[in-house]
Amino acid sequence: MFCPFCEIEVSEFHQNSHVVPDWLYKLSFKENKNLKSYGLDIQEEEIALKQSSLKGPFICRDCETVFGDPEGYARLVFGDETNHSSIPNVANADVRKVNTQFGLHEGYEMIGLDFKKLKKFVLGVILKGHMAKTGLTKDLLGDKHFIRMREIYLEDHEGDDLIYPIFVFKFNENQPFWNMVSQPVRTKSKEGLNLISFKGGGYEFNVNVQSHPLTREEAEFRFRKEGRLLMLKAVQNLVAIREFLEKAKKLKADRWGS
Ligand SMILES: [Zn+2]
Repeated sequence: MFCPFCEIEVSEFHQNSHVVPDWLYKLSFKENKNLKSYGLDIQEEEIALKQSSLKGPFICRDCETVFGDPEGYARLVFGDETNHSSIPNVANADVRKVNTQFGLHEGYEMIGLDFKKLKKFVLGVILKGHMAKTGLTKDLLGDKHFIRMREIYLEDHEGDDLIYPIFVFKFNENQPFWNMVSQPVRTKSKEGLNLISFKGGGYEFNVNVQSHPLTREEAEFRFRKEGRLLMLKAVQNLVAIREFLEKAKKLKADRWGS
């Protein structure tokens, strides 16, 4: 079989590749075993309560290993604090007021992050989301973005923070849908930007797939190549989530009858 990522003929695929990693699901449940995440998969037109991620064979074993390294790094950054003191953890993020086009917002700033690894984590989840769905339903990225994003994932140099810029939002734990996990989906920002977005662990990771340049405000909050990540507390995005859920419910109702 032909691995869509390394484009090598292999004898078998890794049997249990995930899209959104399990640690993001675990972060969403915390210690509460009864709490389940909203696993939203709009492409499968499905909304379900789940405690583990979408898994299946869609890439080779070597590629699974390649994706695993940046996922491990992201876990140390966004997951519970560990004793890896050299890697910044969200628990130690600098909380401050940030001036945005919508007024003052609370933000969490981290510096000293490994830009390449964290970028690979976010792009990797999206690339895997695309490959997991290729041929099953309509493609997440389309050929053009898949080829370009894979190229960027594989390049050796540090990379550019204006090509597929990344935005991360952090949810407040007492907000509804805090514990929602969603597989990568196409969506639009409030300002109409085309985004691919996934959620988990109280975070929303967004990649801008628009070709036009970012506005000054958008540029300010992108993940910077010098390793600075400024996460805004997601407030207005809740509206988008509600719309998302409504859409998913409607899709399901249209298809199956409610
Ligand atoms: Zn491969």
